Amino acid sequence: MDRGFIHVYTGNGKGKTTAALGLGIRALGAGLKVLLVQFLKKGDFSEIRFLGSQPNIEIRQFGTGKFVKGRPSKEDVEEAERGIKEIKDLLNSGKFDVVILDEANIAVKYGLIDLETIIDLIEARPKGTEIILTGRGADPKIIELADLVTEMQEIKHYFKKGVYARIGIEK
Ligand code: ATP
Ligand code: MG
Repeated sequence: MDRGFIHVYTGNGKGKTTAALGLGIRALGAGLKVLLVQFLKKGDFSEIRFLGSQPNIEIRQFGTGKFVKGRPSKEDVEEAERGIKEIKDLLNSGKFDVVILDEANIAVKYGLIDLETIIDLIEARPKGTEIILTGRGADPKIIELADLVTEMQEIKHYFKKGVYARIGIEK
């Protein structure tokens, strides 16, 4: 691509990660190369099961899978730092057309990754690389930097009725 844009999918409603994954699938269908990075998460979620078996996509997870909110552990922070280093190298390789940083906004919000570090990383990307950041509570500076920002607005969510993440639908 001539020029890659920066997308942010934020807000409280459902659909941030699924929108990013949908875009990833579309890109793969077009023969583009995709890097899917998941912060905070660890594990064989259904999307990873499927996408992991596809060509032209690389997947990295940097998380313990334990952090929800509040104070991240030392291990969570170390994982995120490791992530930043690896993402820098992967971005600089120029191999990827689309880079998804799933839950990057959360990682910034809870101090797992430094705001300026992620901004530098985004700005220094190869010109043709499209970047997608997901997660609630996107920092205003990231919103300002982005070319496209979508806020998923919660009108209703069954989570409030006690329906937690289900395999195949939320994970
Ligand atoms: P999806 O992956 O389905 O697209 P998302 O990326 O928009 O969702 P996240 O904020 O990353 O949403 O995480 C959603 C998880 O948090 C869900 O598994 C859900 O069970 C839980 N959750 C708690 N409160 C809410 C809420 N108000 N809206 C959506 N999810 C919620
Ligand atoms: Mg999500």
